[in-house]
Amino acid sequence: MRIGTGYDIHRLVEGRPLILGGVKITYPKGLLGHSDADVLSHAIADSILGAAGLPDIGFYFPNTDPSIEGIDSQKILKRVVAEVEKKGFRLVNADSTLIAEEPHLGTYMPIIKKRLSKTLGLPENAIGIKATTNEGVGDLGQGMAIAAQAVCLLKKQ
Ligand code: MG
Repeated sequence: MRIGTGYDIHRLVEGRPLILGGVKITYPKGLLGHSDADVLSHAIADSILGAAGLPDIGFYFPNTDPSIEGIDSQKILKRVVAEVEKKGFRLVNADSTLIAEEPHLGTYMPIIKKRLSKTLGLPENAIGIKATTNEGVGDLGQGMAIAAQAVCLLKKQ
C-alpha cells in the first residue's frame, strides 16, 4: 500500500466559472488558473502522483504550455490515474477537504462525488469530500481563494 497527500489553492476572481470536482458551481466568481483551475481535482491528482512517487501535476501539465490552456481537470485526473496504473498501482480510495468561505457546497457534494467516481474509476463509497470554511480567518476566510487538501491510497497490483 502507498499513501499520498496533495494540496492546492487558487484565487477567486470575477469573470471565471467555478469548477470543483468537475462540477460547475453557481457562483458569481470562479477560480483563476491556466487550466479550469479545479482546485479539488488538482489536490486529488497530486495525492495520487505523490503516492506513486511520481512528479507533481506541474510536471505533466505545465502552466506554461499554451496547448492545455483551459483544460478540463477531469482529463488531468484521468491521465494521472493512467500514469500510476502504468507503474502497477491501483487507486483504492481518495479523501479530500475543500476550504471555502463561500459558496455553501453541501447540495453539490453528491454530484461532485458522482463525477469524481466516474473519472477516477472508484466506487462512490471510496471517495470522501468534506467542505469547511476558514472561520473568517486570513485570505481564505476573506473569500479571496479556495484551497483543497487530499489524501489517497494506492495498492501495488
Ligand atoms: Mg492547481
